Amino acid sequence: MTQHRAQEKVLSFEDARRVVDEQSATLQTAGIEHVNLLAASGRVLAEDISSDRDLPPFPRSTRDGYAVRSSDLARIPAAFELIGEIKAGEKPENPPLRLSAGQAISIMTGAPVPVGADAVVMVEYTKRQDDSVEITQQVSAGENIVPRGAEARQGSVLLARGLRLGHAAIALAASVGKSEIKVYTRPRVAILTTGDEIVGVDATPGPTQIRNSNSYSLAAQIQKAGGQPVLLPIAPDEPASLRRLIEEGLKFDLLLMTGGVSMGRYDLVEQVLSEMNAEFFFTGAKIQPGRPVVFGRLAPGASARETPKYFFGLPGNPVSTMVTFELFARPMLAALAGERPNKLAFVHVRLKKEIRTRTGLRRFLPAILTGELEDSQVEIVPWQGSGDIAAIARANCLVVIPADREHIPAGEFIPILPL
Ligand code: AMP
Ligand code: MG
Repeated sequence: MTQHRAQEKVLSFEDARRVVDEQSATLQTAGIEHVNLLAASGRVLAEDISSDRDLPPFPRSTRDGYAVRSSDLARIPAAFELIGEIKAGEKPENPPLRLSAGQAISIMTGAPVPVGADAVVMVEYTKRQDDSVEITQQVSAGENIVPRGAEARQGSVLLARGLRLGHAAIALAASVGKSEIKVYTRPRVAILTTGDEIVGVDATPGPTQIRNSNSYSLAAQIQKAGGQPVLLPIAPDEPASLRRLIEEGLKFDLLLMTGGVSMGRYDLVEQVLSEMNAEFFFTGAKIQPGRPVVFGRLAPGASARETPKYFFGLPGNPVSTMVTFELFARPMLAALAGERPNKLAFVHVRLKKEIRTRTGLRRFLPAILTGELEDSQVEIVPWQGSGDIAAIARANCLVVIPADREHIPAGEFIPILPL
């Protein structure tokens, strides 16, 4: 069998990441839909959300205590005439309470500070007697008060289009009255698993057959990244069927293939893609696991005017599939989902046990992060290589090792990518 491989284009990790980001920046986002705020977690904002009023809308007391003029506390202890009480949410008195020198007003957390007061003294530093209060602590002007509009001005943008909504952003949307919000529709991502040895999850595998796990890890990763996974049938290692299924996959917003991208005689994915005139941005990256990862694009139909669809050929080894998704496919999926570009977030953690490895490839090794606070440390998981699903299932992060390091001693702070 003659192999028409794409011309080899093996990039460093950094260059491969850059290419994916460059292409991601050219993507058109999908449609727009409205969702209830309760269903908005993890969705990407398709509108700017502005403040409908000043936040806070009134000078807010942050303590239970007494509103005073700070200048009245030049000498302590000092006695004040108590002229009233303000609860949170209480309708303001008419005319509003106004504080003069030597006076104090009892005030609760979250209540509006009365005109004339410039500070709130915590109740802990006071002694109350009927209509007067003795204060034993000084305060500076502004203490325990958040001025009106200090958090945000009416009309200012609080949450910008392209933000993935987390719980705090949802709280902010709620605080400005947005019960329904505009979000981008979830991109649909086709998953095409290849390999003659691969059978469905419900099948009883023959002695040399393997159940399809990659489609399921990918589906979970796609969902978490805000996409909708669509499982295509398993493609055999045979060019005509593979091509038909790739064509099917190009109907979706992004096509992820797994398997068939290594150097074996039956690794046909690149060959078939080449025959379909695919453009390859890379056919490998200097990483382990995941070296054979492929990234490119392809016109979906006969017409060259149709916008090309992007594809990733992820190596079939389950750990490689998972890792290359995180490193390359996730950022592109985020862009398709309308998210503003984000860097991959690496954190530095102390290494528990030394690591010895070979140079030449940047490694992303399954590892376990344990401990809290200053005791946080990371340790690589013993594994049988990139087919070891049991090992990656125990891991909660990937340790990142630069291509030029053979030995990393225990105690060194090294970057990890949390999973
Ligand atoms: P390949 O990249 O096609 O050479 O496959 C590499 C290894 O991954 C082989 O051991 C395959 O059996 C295994 N593999 C490929 N696809 C899957 C899959 N969908 N689920 C589980 N293992 C797979
Ligand atoms: Mg294969």
